[in-house]
Amino acid sequence: MKIQLDDIGPSKIVHLYAPQIPMRAVVVVDNTARGPALGGIRVSPEVDVEEVYRLARTMTFKSAVADLPHGGGKAGIVADPRRPDIERIFRTFARLIGNLHEYIPAPDMGCNENAMAWVQDEIGRVAGLPGEIGGLPLDKLGATGFGLAESAEVACAYAGIDLRGARVAIQGFGSVGKAAARFFEQKGARLIAVSDSRGGVHDAGGLAVDKLLAVKEQQGTVCASRAGKVIRGEELFQLDCDILIPAATADVIHKENAAGIKARLILEGANIPTTSGAEQLLAERGVLIVPDFIANAGGLIMAAMEYARKNEAEAFAAISEKIRANTRRILDKAQSEGLMPRAAAERIARERVTSAMRHRAYSYS
Ligand code: NAD
Repeated sequence: MKIQLDDIGPSKIVHLYAPQIPMRAVVVVDNTARGPALGGIRVSPEVDVEEVYRLARTMTFKSAVADLPHGGGKAGIVADPRRPDIERIFRTFARLIGNLHEYIPAPDMGCNENAMAWVQDEIGRVAGLPGEIGGLPLDKLGATGFGLAESAEVACAYAGIDLRGARVAIQGFGSVGKAAARFFEQKGARLIAVSDSRGGVHDAGGLAVDKLLAVKEQQGTVCASRAGKVIRGEELFQLDCDILIPAATADVIHKENAAGIKARLILEGANIPTTSGAEQLLAERGVLIVPDFIANAGGLIMAAMEYARKNEAEAFAAISEKIRANTRRILDKAQSEGLMPRAAAERIARERVTSAMRHRAYSYS
């Protein structure tokens, strides 16, 4: 897939290079008609401009559907996040985007609130700060996992699932996956499988979330857990479960594994985890998918609330209210208009973005 310029963006693609480190990075500002683009910084050796562009577009839609006063953007720093000089990399990146005022950085894969503190220190424009310096630490608080569980409570009724006792499988046990596991357990669901980059564990009878969290913290992988059977990461998608939550990386559900998926409901914790071919196949089989920019908007909503100087309780209330309403709205629209949920959500988002663009001058940043 190439980057496609369409009726809403992207408005800027900025390549950054700091030869003294060396460091390469890219920022895509997709659309700013509704406000400055808010979006995370992804740090990975593999991140490229195409991935950042796709993520930036997702942020445009996510902000619009959540009715936030923000547009969509995203950044990618091409580096291993465990590099010993990672602070220097972040500070350099921050200085290079100092004048790109329409982009507000936030955390994404490979970075956390400490990295946001470095960016704040350099340019004073960031969301997702540590609590000690006025932030709402969205990963620590589990904003996105909380939102996924709120979305599930609404979506289960459409998929014919009782969330109490529902069997849940989660791919990825980082900020999103861990918080999702906690909040789904609180709602009475049963976590039957979880994986990280080194593999996974499965127990049809249910896994204890607190034990998995401790094992991940102490040994770095859920595979070290004695609970359940160790599985290969890819096996997680084929397990007998009711709800599947991809919470790791992009394009992990594809045409080759979609046919074997047994879940009736997929909540996209990760951004763009399902290819469009797989989405079509799953829809034909009656598998309901709540798309990323509806289901995983909790982190973005909390980041926007922090930027607007709201407190933690107000942020959680906003996540619950917005995600529940949006899940219901897009699933109703999908049913009544015979659309896939993603298409229904995209229509709403595009309408909001294009109508905001009508109020803006040619250069609206
Ligand atoms: P993270 O870096 O904290 O965790 C990622 C997890 O995925 C880790 O446990 C890692 O081991 C695992 N992983 C990586 N590759 C894997 C693979 N092939 N199979 C199984 N597990 C694998 O990242 P995160 O913040 O939890 O984000 C996860 C996804 O959710 C990303 O796509 C991100 O863009 C998206 N997302 C995050 C937030 C947020 O609030 N953090 C909000 C919205 C969307």
